[in-house]
Amino acid sequence: MAPRFFCPESLASGQVITLPPQAAHHALRVLRLDTGDELVLFDGSGGEWAGRVVEAGRELRVELGGWRDAECESGLQLTLVQALPAADKMDWVVQKAVELGVSAIVPLQAKRSVVRLAGERAEKRQRHWHQVAVSACEQCGRNRLPALSGLIDLPHYLAQPAGDGETRFLLSPHQGLRLASFAPPEGALTLMVGPEGGFDPEEERAARSAGFQPVSLGPRVLRTETAGLAAIAAVMALWGDF
Ligand code: SAM
Repeated sequence: MAPRFFCPESLASGQVITLPPQAAHHALRVLRLDTGDELVLFDGSGGEWAGRVVEAGRELRVELGGWRDAECESGLQLTLVQALPAADKMDWVVQKAVELGVSAIVPLQAKRSVVRLAGERAEKRQRHWHQVAVSACEQCGRNRLPALSGLIDLPHYLAQPAGDGETRFLLSPHQGLRLASFAPPEGALTLMVGPEGGFDPEEERAARSAGFQPVSLGPRVLRTETAGLAAIAAVMALWGDF
């Protein structure tokens, strides 16, 4: 399979484009691409272009060939609202959630999140998560980038209106119904996952009044970074494209 690269500008057949520096570095130094080598480019708006390296020096220039309507998006519009986990576990969650097919990720600053991010540090992490999502799309064949929201706290997140017909699940250990006991969602589906210490009772009450229904993933307490990914896989098997 030809290597795939995200290029954040509008692409068109026949164009010669310069690959962004980070992608060029990977292509030249890691994959050792050279003039004449084939690759695939996508701009995040759907579909992909066949490309051929025409210059592999200080910059990597690619001539775009034909466009292909290649889609591997799930029909299930799935959002993961993930309370910020400790250390760099959010990187892992973003990478796997993109591979598993979510359409949006909302990083949530919960009261009990161990990591607290604000200002420049939050913006830096945001840029980093964006790059993790891009790399995951390059690797797994997605041509549309899932939406990655800025870090938000629960009151601000819940103040936003729910989507029309949106189903909202709050992953709750020791309470709630099993996923399989719910009817297939008629619209979009949102899964919200607590941090290592769980949501505090006030947050849980607020989420429930905003329409989040408690859902159980069985009798074992999963780590926060396991819970969301397990739930995504389960709903993709029940109502998505697994
Ligand atoms: N002591 C915490 C509590 O009781 O909420 C444990 C939190 S758990 C490590 C982190 C998050 O993962 C939880 O807030 C929940 O969203 C999710 N989670 C973990 N195990 C789960 C399960 N068996 N069913 C549903 N959600 C679960």
